[in-house]
Amino acid sequence: MILFELRCTRQHHFEAWFKDGSTYDSQAATGGVACPVCGDTGVEKAPMAPRLAKGRGAALDLQAAAGEMRKVLGEFKRQVQQGCDYVGERFPEEARKIHYGDVEARPIYGEASAEEAGKLEEEGVCLRRIPWIDDGN
Ligand SMILES: [Zn+2]
Repeated sequence: MILFELRCTRQHHFEAWFKDGSTYDSQAATGGVACPVCGDTGVEKAPMAPRLAKGRGAALDLQAAAGEMRKVLGEFKRQVQQGCDYVGERFPEEARKIHYGDVEARPIYGEASAEEAGKLEEEGVCLRRIPWIDDGN
C-alpha cells in the first residue's frame, strides 16, 4: 500500500491509499479519485515523498526502507563472496559442468545474461538470480 498526498484543482489537500503507484495513475486518469471536500476528480499528486506501509498505521520512510534494503543486499553479497567461487562470465559453463557432474559440486557465482540464465533453468540447473549492488553509493 502506498499513501499519496493529493490536491484537487481547488487546492484542497487530502491523502489517499493506493495499492501501488500505477493503481493511482490509472484511477486518477479515469476520474476514479475524487476530492473528499468538493468531489472534484481533477486531482494530482501534491509534492511530497510517498510513504509505504505494511499495514494500518505502520507508515515507514521510503529512504529508510531503501537504506535497509541496501544493508541486507550488501550483507548477502559479502556472504556470497566469502562462501562461493567467483567464475565471472564462465558462470553458465561452470554451472553446467557442476550440474552434469563433470566437476566436483561447489557453490559458485558469476555473471550470466537473462537468456543464458533462462537456458540453464530449462536444463534444470539450480541457480538463483540475485540483485548485485555496488559497494559505493
Ligand atoms: Zn476539492
